[in-house]
Amino acid sequence: MPANKVLVTDFDGTVTKHDFYNLVAEELLTPAALRPWSDYLARKITHFEAMRRIYAAIRAPEERLMRVLRDMQPDPELARYAAELKRAGWHVAVASAGCRWYIDIILKNAGVESFEVNASPGLYHPGGPLELSPPTGSPFYSPENGIDKAGIVRHHLDRGAVVAYAGDSFTDLEAALLVPDALRFGTAVLRERLREMNERVNNFNRWGEVAAALLEMRGA
Ligand SMILES: [Mg+2]
Repeated sequence: MPANKVLVTDFDGTVTKHDFYNLVAEELLTPAALRPWSDYLARKITHFEAMRRIYAAIRAPEERLMRVLRDMQPDPELARYAAELKRAGWHVAVASAGCRWYIDIILKNAGVESFEVNASPGLYHPGGPLELSPPTGSPFYSPENGIDKAGIVRHHLDRGAVVAYAGDSFTDLEAALLVPDALRFGTAVLRERLREMNERVNNFNRWGEVAAALLEMRGA
């Protein structure tokens, strides 16, 4: 039976403190390799295509990438909160415009098996690059972003589930606006954008605070 309470959550900058993209951009890539990001901001290419081209420029031993994944700093209490949310009947669906390759590794390293992961598939070749593929098999496939975050929220709302959303970026805005404001969690750019729009948003600094708030809700 599908869960009647679903937390749809962004991953980079939400479940983790830092974004994979920002860390590889700072530590492993040249400014020229980041040009696709400017092309995306100028609306010349899609977000997915920008990510695909930038990840395709990564050249580093896999161990170096593993260090990047640790430096992303997933919430240190991820496993405990994942277990408590599951026990309380909350299903967690990750909705990410990033890459499933590193999300799966981070969740596995944290000992979390209960999350549903919606993200573009990827493969790290020895020495690089990270090959990103469009998630064409996903019911939430979006040519623009890889995954349609708002589409995941709508899917669960349409079948009558209670849906919470957590995110940190402008790519989370549409999805965050769909959920009841008591169940809307934002940090960083997402929080600022929502406040500018006079929309209510629950602040969080790390993902465990979102989980704790959901677990504390009476009757939820
Ligand atoms: Mg994010």
